[in-house]
Parts: sequence; structure tokens; C-alpha cells
Amino acid sequence: MSKILVLPGDGIGNEIMAEAAKLFTAIEQVFGFQCEFERGLIGGIAVDETGTPLPDQTVELAKQADAVLLGAVGGPKWDNLERHLRPERGLLGMRSALGLFANLRPAILFPQLAAASTLKEEIVAGLDILIIRELTGGIYFGEPRGERKENGKRIGFNTMVYGEDEIVRILEAGFEAARKRGGRLCSVDKANVLDVSGLWREVAIEMGEKNPDVELSHMYVDNAAMQLVRAPKQFDVMVTGNLFGDILSDCAAMLTGSIGMLPSASLNEAGAGMYEPVHGSAPDIAGTDQANPLATLLSMAMMFRHSLSRADIGDAIETAVSSVLDQGLRTGDIFTDGTQKVGTVQMGDAVVAALQGAG
Ligand code: NAD
Repeated sequence: MSKILVLPGDGIGNEIMAEAAKLFTAIEQVFGFQCEFERGLIGGIAVDETGTPLPDQTVELAKQADAVLLGAVGGPKWDNLERHLRPERGLLGMRSALGLFANLRPAILFPQLAAASTLKEEIVAGLDILIIRELTGGIYFGEPRGERKENGKRIGFNTMVYGEDEIVRILEAGFEAARKRGGRLCSVDKANVLDVSGLWREVAIEMGEKNPDVELSHMYVDNAAMQLVRAPKQFDVMVTGNLFGDILSDCAAMLTGSIGMLPSASLNEAGAGMYEPVHGSAPDIAGTDQANPLATLLSMAMMFRHSLSRADIGDAIETAVSSVLDQGLRTGDIFTDGTQKVGTVQMGDAVVAALQGAG
């Protein structure tokens, strides 16, 4: 039986995770798919209850699980703690404890929400791209790093470094994802300036020769940023390093208009993963039944596809979400005139009903 670790975290985490729990129950009824659940602490609540944002027990449970479903962490209550106690440290700790090197961020714009984007409808309607970001290397972890003084002036420095194996590993994830989608992979680098990107591109070209079934292209990161807002539908899968991916994935996310709709997956070499909505803990609306649960439910869809080998259940969740949008139901963040405003619970119930109706 698949083991899932549920980590609600802080703020709206509990509310969105309650909707996920209802959907798991419905999936069991409709598909007969049973999971074993554990619950753990992470983030601010873990600081309050155990004195650390990532208790050892949570790491142990995560290592035993096939997948981790996370709500969100953080909030004003913990903003002034020392850096090592901050809730976000819990997330970084999980990434390194589980070796989550590949971050998958789809930017999908449901056609029903095309008006919510800041871009013209014809540019974004039907958008469906996937950004794969390397998550455990590059300039965020490279050594040496720090601050020193030279001639009485301060200098800050970091090192952008990638080993061949790290590049191969993340590009393999890119080729595999492209193969399951539209068959096109764009590798993003800055090979015209950076030596580390020069190696990245060399390795990508070598791998492209070994994966002729995928159409590989290369793009400089500055051009990629421009193309993402000019004509985003030209892309299928983009793969890039940690820093470039951080920026490009947020840019792509915003093409879709609402942070409440965006799922993500972070995978390790064994195929286990951590799944979480892209948004944070939204302390401004926590406890008011206003949070959009769809990013979390779509993260569950990714979990079924990538870690539980049940792409059919992933598809069913996405279809259920789409059908609820067709019914005109909207939480406040995606509400537009002429649609029906609902709360977190009602939105979750509607997705469950749509899934049951289809089953
Ligand atoms: P946020 O994503 O929590 O909120 C930004 C805005 O979007 C807020 O107005 C919020 O109400 C709204 N929003 C977010 N999720 C929503 C949802 N599901 N439905 C409807 N509206 C939603 O970002 P922030 O305000 O910058 O950060 C709040 C806290 O979350 C901070 O402590 C931050 O460190 C943390 N954070 C955590 C994560 C994470 O857990 N992965 C990510 C980003 C921020």
C-alpha cells in the first residue's frame, strides 16, 4: 500500500489539506486505491511544538513515504526568529534530506480562467508548459560563498557550479517529461557568458544525440524570459538550473493569473517526491474559508502521476477540477463577474462530487 506523509504546516495549510483528505477518500471509493497516511509537523507549528521547523521525526516519516503532500509554511508569528528557526528552513531541510533535485512546475491556464491573466487571452489561452528547475545545486549551494573585506570595502560572493552528473540527472528528467508530453525540450542557459553554462550546453547537446525522439533546443535565459511573456505557447518543457529556474518558473506561473491554481512537485532519484501548492500560507485569509484549494488538489494529481504510478487518477483529478470551473464555481482569488463565489469547503466538495460523478 502506498504511504503518504501529510504535512499541513501553517496558515491556510490545515484548510487546504482538509480538502485533500476528502479527495483521497473519494479516490479510494471510486478507484479502490488505498493509501496509508501519516501526519507530521513542519514550519511554524513545528517550531511551537518541538522547537525546530523540521523535527527529526518528520524527516524519518518522509523517508519512509512514497510521497509527501505539503500545505504551506510561515507566517508573521515566526518572522523574527533566528534564521535557522524560520519555518522556510523546514522546506529547505526536506529538499536536502530527501535529495529532491528536480522541481516540476507546470504552468497551465485552464481556458475558463483565461481572463484572469494579465496577458491578452489569445497569448495565454490553452497554455500548458512545464518548467523543470534543478533544485539542489548551482549558485544557491556552490562554495566558496560569503562576504569578505578588501581594502576596507565589503565584497559579497557566491559560486555557480554544476558537475556533469548533476547536469545529466536534471536533463534526463527533462527528456523523460518531454517524452510524456509534446516531445519538445528547451534547455535554458547563459552559455554566451558563463563557463558553467558552457558545460551545461555541451552536456545537453551530447544528451540530445542520445535522445533523438525528443526535439531539443537551447535558449539563453534572458531571451527565455522575453519569450515567456511574448509567446509562451511556443514551449513544451523547459529545463534549467537552480537560479534561472527560480526566476523563470515564477514568471511562467504568473502568466496563469492566480497563485491559488498552481501545483508543484519536487522529485528525487528514486521517484519519491514532495508535492505542494506554489503559494504560501496566506496568513491574511487563514481560517476564513477563502483559500483556493485547487493548487493543492492539482498537486495531488501530480503525486498520482509521478510517485504513485497512477496517471489515470491524476487525469481524473484534473478533469474534475476543470468541470468545477465549467460549472462557474470560483474562490475569491479567481472570481470574475458572472461566476459564483464559493469558499474553500464548497470548492473541495464540488471537486469530490465531480470526481465521483465521473467514476
Ligand atoms: P502567499 O502566497 O502566502 O500569499 C500571497 C497572496 O496570495 C495573499 O494575498 C494570499 O491571500 C493570496 N493567496 C495565496 N494562496 C492563496 C490561495 N490558495 N487562495 C487564495 N488566495 C491565496 O505569499 P506571502 O504573503 O508572500 O507569504 C505568506 C507566508 O507564506 C510567509 O511567511 C512566507 O514566507 C510563506 N511562504 C511559504 C511558501 C511555502 O510554504 N512553500 C511559499 C511562499 C511563501
